[in-house]
Amino acid sequence: MNNHVTLEEFVAVVTGDSVQDVVRESRCVALPFGCGENLMEVVYTSEDGDPEEDALYWLIWQMTGLCGDCQDEYEELEDEAVDAVTQAVDKFELRLEMEASVMRLLSELERDDDSD
Ligand SMILES: [Zn+2]
Repeated sequence: MNNHVTLEEFVAVVTGDSVQDVVRESRCVALPFGCGENLMEVVYTSEDGDPEEDALYWLIWQMTGLCGDCQDEYEELEDEAVDAVTQAVDKFELRLEMEASVMRLLSELERDDDSD
């Protein structure tokens, strides 16, 4: 038994929409994942019209149902998430360093006590 849910199944459960329908109807997947806009009205290509980038947008749209605008938004969210993780790791390292210094201090104090 495989209990894994595919992205498509997940989107279908949350939005009642399906990537198949999205692609067939040339639109963006329904809220909250996408904007649900018709792709005839919403440009799903890159801003500078780079054909390679456009092809990538198109490919990702075929897989996820997200239009170019929504793909860009997710990319920004991902960047923010990466920043948050990096900051958390930095803070954790800082805490470990502080704990190490405290331990060092404590053992020094203990040594001082012993010498009395
Ligand atoms: Zn969209």
